[in-house]
Amino acid sequence: MQVGETRATRFRMQTQPMNTVVELPRGVDPTPEQLELLAEHSRRLETATPPEIIRWAVENFHPKLTMATAFGPEGCVILHMLGSIDRTVPVFNLDTGYQFAETLELRDRIAARYGIEVEMKQPDTTVAEYEALHGGPLYKTNPDQCCFDRKVKVLRQAALGMHAWMSGIRRDQSPDRAKAPIVGWDKKFKLVKISPLANWTKKEVWKLITDEDIPYNPLHDQGYPSIGCWPCTRAVMFGEEDERAGRWSGTAKTECGLHTLDDSPKD
Ligand code: SF4
Repeated sequence: MQVGETRATRFRMQTQPMNTVVELPRGVDPTPEQLELLAEHSRRLETATPPEIIRWAVENFHPKLTMATAFGPEGCVILHMLGSIDRTVPVFNLDTGYQFAETLELRDRIAARYGIEVEMKQPDTTVAEYEALHGGPLYKTNPDQCCFDRKVKVLRQAALGMHAWMSGIRRDQSPDRAKAPIVGWDKKFKLVKISPLANWTKKEVWKLITDEDIPYNPLHDQGYPSIGCWPCTRAVMFGEEDERAGRWSGTAKTECGLHTLDDSPKD
Protein backbone atom coordinates (compact mmCIF):
# COMPACT_ATOMS: atom_id res chain seq x y z
CA MET A 1 0.00 0.00 0.00
CA GLN A 2 1.31 3.44 -0.91
CA VAL A 3 1.96 6.17 1.64
CA GLY A 4 -1.20 8.15 2.25
CA GLU A 5 -3.44 5.59 0.61
CA THR A 6 -6.52 4.78 2.66
CA ARG A 7 -7.36 1.17 3.36
CA ALA A 8 -10.95 1.64 2.43
CA THR A 9 -13.11 2.50 -0.50
CA ARG A 10 -14.94 5.70 0.33
CA PHE A 11 -18.55 5.52 -0.58
CA ARG A 12 -20.80 8.53 -0.06
CA MET A 13 -24.38 7.88 0.89
CA GLN A 14 -26.59 10.22 -1.06
CA THR A 15 -29.67 9.05 0.79
CA GLN A 16 -28.07 10.25 4.03
CA PRO A 17 -26.83 13.73 4.86
CA MET A 18 -23.99 14.78 2.54
CA ASN A 19 -20.51 13.87 3.72
CA THR A 20 -21.77 10.69 5.37
CA VAL A 21 -19.24 8.17 4.21
CA VAL A 22 -19.37 4.42 4.44
CA GLU A 23 -16.02 2.69 4.49
CA LEU A 24 -15.80 -0.35 2.28
CA PRO A 25 -12.69 -2.37 3.10
CA ARG A 26 -10.25 -3.02 0.30
CA GLY A 27 -8.98 -6.51 -0.31
CA VAL A 28 -11.77 -8.14 1.70
CA ASP A 29 -15.49 -8.43 1.18
CA PRO A 30 -17.74 -5.82 2.80
CA THR A 31 -19.82 -6.56 5.88
CA PRO A 32 -23.51 -7.50 5.52
CA GLU A 33 -24.40 -3.94 6.61
CA GLN A 34 -22.23 -2.43 3.90
CA LEU A 35 -23.67 -4.80 1.32
CA GLU A 36 -27.14 -3.70 2.38
CA LEU A 37 -26.16 -0.07 1.85
CA LEU A 38 -25.05 -0.91 -1.67
CA ALA A 39 -28.30 -2.79 -2.23
CA GLU A 40 -30.22 0.24 -0.99
CA HIS A 41 -28.50 2.45 -3.55
CA SER A 42 -29.15 -0.14 -6.22
CA ARG A 43 -32.86 -0.27 -5.41
CA ARG A 44 -33.10 3.51 -5.45
CA LEU A 45 -31.29 3.70 -8.80
CA GLU A 46 -33.64 1.16 -10.41
CA THR A 47 -35.86 4.04 -11.45
CA ALA A 48 -33.02 6.37 -12.44
CA THR A 49 -32.01 6.94 -16.04
CA PRO A 50 -28.60 5.64 -17.24
CA PRO A 51 -27.13 9.19 -17.28
CA GLU A 52 -28.35 9.68 -13.69
CA ILE A 53 -26.71 6.41 -12.67
CA ILE A 54 -23.45 7.37 -14.37
CA ARG A 55 -23.53 10.80 -12.72
CA TRP A 56 -24.08 9.11 -9.36
CA ALA A 57 -21.11 6.84 -10.00
CA VAL A 58 -18.90 9.78 -10.99
CA GLU A 59 -19.95 11.83 -7.94
CA ASN A 60 -19.32 8.94 -5.56
CA PHE A 61 -16.21 7.31 -6.96
CA HIS A 62 -14.31 9.46 -9.43
CA PRO A 63 -11.24 9.55 -9.62
CA LYS A 64 -11.34 5.95 -8.39
CA LEU A 65 -13.96 4.98 -10.95
CA THR A 66 -13.07 3.16 -14.15
CA MET A 67 -14.91 1.56 -17.03
CA ALA A 68 -14.13 -1.47 -19.15
CA THR A 69 -15.47 -1.63 -22.68
CA ALA A 70 -15.25 -4.10 -25.54
CA PHE A 71 -16.82 -1.39 -27.74
CA GLY A 72 -20.14 -3.22 -27.89
CA PRO A 73 -23.30 -1.17 -28.49
CA GLU A 74 -23.88 -0.78 -24.76
CA GLY A 75 -20.32 0.41 -24.15
CA CYS A 76 -20.65 2.93 -26.96
CA VAL A 77 -23.88 4.22 -25.41
CA ILE A 78 -22.22 4.66 -22.01
CA LEU A 79 -19.25 6.41 -23.63
CA HIS A 80 -21.71 8.71 -25.39
CA MET A 81 -23.28 9.59 -22.03
CA LEU A 82 -19.92 9.86 -20.29
CA GLY A 83 -18.86 12.29 -23.03
CA SER A 84 -21.30 14.85 -21.67
CA ILE A 85 -20.93 13.93 -17.97
CA ASP A 86 -17.19 13.56 -17.38
CA ARG A 87 -14.60 12.74 -20.04
CA THR A 88 -11.85 12.25 -17.51
CA VAL A 89 -13.13 8.92 -16.17
CA PRO A 90 -10.48 6.39 -17.23
CA VAL A 91 -11.84 3.85 -19.70
CA PHE A 92 -9.98 0.80 -20.91
CA ASN A 93 -10.33 -2.05 -23.35
CA LEU A 94 -9.04 -5.56 -22.72
CA ASP A 95 -6.90 -5.89 -25.80
CA THR A 96 -6.51 -9.65 -26.02
CA GLY A 97 -4.65 -9.54 -29.32
CA TYR A 98 -7.55 -11.40 -30.94
CA GLN A 99 -9.94 -8.51 -31.50
CA PHE A 100 -11.43 -7.68 -34.89
CA ALA A 101 -9.85 -4.82 -36.85
CA GLU A 102 -13.29 -3.15 -36.89
CA THR A 103 -13.30 -3.14 -33.08
CA LEU A 104 -9.88 -1.53 -32.88
CA GLU A 105 -10.87 1.12 -35.42
CA LEU A 106 -13.91 2.00 -33.34
CA ARG A 107 -11.58 3.19 -30.60
CA ASP A 108 -10.36 5.98 -32.89
CA ARG A 109 -13.90 6.95 -33.92
CA ILE A 110 -14.91 7.22 -30.24
CA ALA A 111 -11.85 9.36 -29.51
CA ALA A 112 -12.64 11.68 -32.43
CA ARG A 113 -16.28 12.05 -31.45
CA TYR A 114 -16.03 12.39 -27.66
CA GLY A 115 -12.40 13.14 -26.90
CA ILE A 116 -12.30 9.98 -24.76
CA GLU A 117 -9.11 7.99 -25.33
CA VAL A 118 -9.86 4.41 -24.40
CA GLU A 119 -6.69 2.86 -23.06
CA MET A 120 -5.77 -0.52 -24.53
CA LYS A 121 -4.69 -2.91 -21.78
CA GLN A 122 -2.71 -5.89 -23.00
CA PRO A 123 -1.81 -9.20 -21.35
CA ASP A 124 1.81 -9.77 -20.45
CA THR A 125 2.39 -11.99 -23.49
CA THR A 126 1.78 -11.30 -27.17
CA VAL A 127 -0.44 -13.70 -29.07
CA ALA A 128 2.64 -15.31 -30.65
CA GLU A 129 4.33 -15.78 -27.27
CA TYR A 130 1.15 -17.10 -25.68
CA GLU A 131 0.48 -19.61 -28.43
CA ALA A 132 4.10 -20.75 -28.41
CA LEU A 133 3.87 -21.24 -24.66
CA HIS A 134 0.80 -23.45 -24.98
CA GLY A 135 1.72 -25.33 -28.13
CA GLY A 136 -0.93 -23.56 -30.19
CA PRO A 137 -4.02 -21.42 -29.76
CA LEU A 138 -5.48 -22.07 -26.32
CA TYR A 139 -8.88 -20.71 -27.40
CA LYS A 140 -9.33 -24.02 -29.27
CA THR A 141 -8.54 -26.31 -26.36
CA ASN A 142 -9.13 -24.32 -23.17
CA PRO A 143 -11.02 -21.10 -23.84
CA ASP A 144 -11.75 -20.56 -20.13
CA GLN A 145 -8.04 -20.37 -19.42
CA CYS A 146 -7.45 -18.18 -22.47
CA CYS A 147 -10.17 -15.73 -21.32
CA PHE A 148 -8.77 -15.80 -17.83
CA ASP A 149 -5.23 -15.05 -18.95
CA ARG A 150 -6.09 -12.48 -21.59
CA LYS A 151 -9.10 -10.77 -20.01
CA VAL A 152 -9.73 -11.46 -16.30
CA LYS A 153 -6.11 -11.09 -15.22
CA VAL A 154 -5.74 -7.95 -17.31
CA LEU A 155 -8.85 -6.39 -15.78
CA ARG A 156 -7.56 -7.17 -12.29
CA GLN A 157 -4.34 -5.39 -13.12
CA ALA A 158 -6.07 -2.47 -14.84
CA ALA A 159 -8.39 -1.90 -11.89
CA LEU A 160 -5.67 -1.85 -9.24
CA GLY A 161 -6.17 1.15 -6.99
CA MET A 162 -9.70 1.71 -8.28
CA HIS A 163 -12.77 1.48 -6.07
CA ALA A 164 -15.50 0.96 -8.64
CA TRP A 165 -15.97 -0.08 -12.25
CA MET A 166 -18.74 0.38 -14.76
CA SER A 167 -19.83 -2.17 -17.30
CA GLY A 168 -22.40 -2.19 -20.09
CA ILE A 169 -24.16 -5.45 -19.24
CA ARG A 170 -27.94 -5.72 -19.62
CA ARG A 171 -30.14 -8.16 -17.71
CA ASP A 172 -31.90 -9.41 -20.82
CA GLN A 173 -28.65 -10.46 -22.53
CA SER A 174 -28.38 -13.87 -20.88
CA PRO A 175 -29.49 -15.90 -17.84
CA ASP A 176 -26.08 -15.20 -16.27
CA ARG A 177 -26.77 -11.48 -16.37
CA ALA A 178 -30.46 -11.57 -15.47
CA LYS A 179 -29.91 -10.74 -11.80
CA ALA A 180 -27.26 -8.05 -12.26
CA PRO A 181 -27.95 -5.18 -9.84
CA ILE A 182 -27.48 -1.55 -10.85
CA VAL A 183 -24.92 -1.31 -8.06
CA GLY A 184 -23.36 -4.27 -6.31
CA TRP A 185 -20.21 -5.68 -4.84
CA ASP A 186 -18.08 -7.53 -7.35
CA LYS A 187 -16.44 -10.29 -5.33
CA LYS A 188 -14.20 -11.39 -8.15
CA PHE A 189 -12.51 -8.02 -8.56
CA LYS A 190 -13.16 -6.62 -5.06
CA LEU A 191 -14.75 -3.50 -6.53
CA VAL A 192 -18.15 -1.86 -6.51
CA LYS A 193 -19.69 -2.67 -9.89
CA ILE A 194 -22.11 -0.29 -11.57
CA SER A 195 -24.22 -1.37 -14.52
CA PRO A 196 -26.07 1.74 -15.77
CA LEU A 197 -27.85 -0.18 -18.56
CA ALA A 198 -28.83 -3.23 -16.49
CA ASN A 199 -32.53 -2.65 -16.99
CA TRP A 200 -32.37 -1.36 -20.54
CA THR A 201 -33.37 -3.48 -23.52
CA LYS A 202 -31.49 -4.08 -26.74
CA LYS A 203 -34.15 -2.00 -28.49
CA GLU A 204 -33.55 0.99 -26.21
CA VAL A 205 -29.80 0.76 -26.78
CA TRP A 206 -30.16 0.72 -30.57
CA LYS A 207 -32.79 3.46 -30.56
CA LEU A 208 -30.35 5.78 -28.80
CA ILE A 209 -27.52 4.78 -31.17
CA THR A 210 -29.74 5.61 -34.14
CA ASP A 211 -31.24 8.79 -32.67
CA GLU A 212 -27.88 10.21 -31.58
CA ASP A 213 -25.78 8.78 -34.41
CA ILE A 214 -23.47 7.10 -31.89
CA PRO A 215 -20.45 5.34 -33.46
CA TYR A 216 -20.78 1.54 -33.40
CA ASN A 217 -18.99 -1.52 -34.72
CA PRO A 218 -19.88 -2.06 -38.43
CA LEU A 219 -19.86 -5.82 -37.85
CA HIS A 220 -23.25 -5.41 -36.19
CA ASP A 221 -24.61 -4.71 -39.68
CA GLN A 222 -23.08 -7.96 -40.94
CA GLY A 223 -24.90 -10.38 -38.65
CA TYR A 224 -22.82 -10.08 -35.48
CA PRO A 225 -25.11 -8.93 -32.63
CA SER A 226 -22.42 -9.60 -30.02
CA ILE A 227 -18.73 -9.21 -30.77
CA GLY A 228 -15.76 -10.54 -28.85
CA CYS A 229 -12.49 -11.99 -30.11
CA TRP A 230 -12.56 -13.13 -33.74
CA PRO A 231 -11.71 -16.80 -33.05
CA CYS A 232 -14.67 -17.12 -30.66
CA THR A 233 -17.28 -15.04 -32.48
CA ARG A 234 -19.43 -15.90 -35.48
CA ALA A 235 -22.36 -14.21 -37.17
CA VAL A 236 -25.74 -15.47 -36.01
CA MET A 237 -28.02 -17.26 -38.43
CA PHE A 238 -31.53 -16.40 -39.41
CA GLY A 239 -33.90 -17.52 -36.67
CA GLU A 240 -31.30 -17.52 -33.89
CA GLU A 241 -32.85 -15.32 -31.24
CA ASP A 242 -30.13 -15.42 -28.60
CA GLU A 243 -28.03 -12.35 -29.32
CA ARG A 244 -25.00 -14.12 -27.82
CA ALA A 245 -25.47 -17.31 -29.86
CA GLY A 246 -22.40 -16.43 -31.92
CA ARG A 247 -20.08 -16.32 -28.92
CA TRP A 248 -18.11 -19.54 -28.24
CA SER A 249 -20.59 -21.24 -30.54
CA GLY A 250 -20.67 -25.04 -30.28
CA THR A 251 -19.34 -25.03 -26.72
CA ALA A 252 -21.02 -24.74 -23.31
CA LYS A 253 -19.14 -21.51 -22.63
CA THR A 254 -21.31 -18.39 -22.58
CA GLU A 255 -19.24 -15.82 -20.68
CA CYS A 256 -15.62 -14.75 -20.67
CA GLY A 257 -15.56 -14.68 -16.87
CA LEU A 258 -15.68 -10.93 -16.28
CA HIS A 259 -19.33 -10.95 -15.30
CA THR A 260 -19.63 -14.29 -13.53
CA LEU A 261 -19.13 -15.02 -9.86
CA ASP A 262 -17.44 -18.39 -10.24
CA ASP A 263 -13.77 -18.73 -9.41
CA SER A 264 -11.15 -18.30 -12.05
CA PRO A 265 -9.84 -21.47 -13.71
CA LYS A 266 -6.16 -21.03 -12.85
CA ASP A 267 -4.27 -18.09 -11.44
FE1 SF4 B 1 -9.23 -16.24 -25.92
FE2 SF4 B 1 -11.55 -16.52 -27.24
FE3 SF4 B 1 -11.49 -15.67 -24.69
FE4 SF4 B 1 -10.62 -14.10 -26.66
S1 SF4 B 1 -12.73 -14.82 -26.33
S2 SF4 B 1 -9.64 -14.40 -24.71
S3 SF4 B 1 -9.63 -15.63 -28.02
S4 SF4 B 1 -10.92 -17.70 -25.48
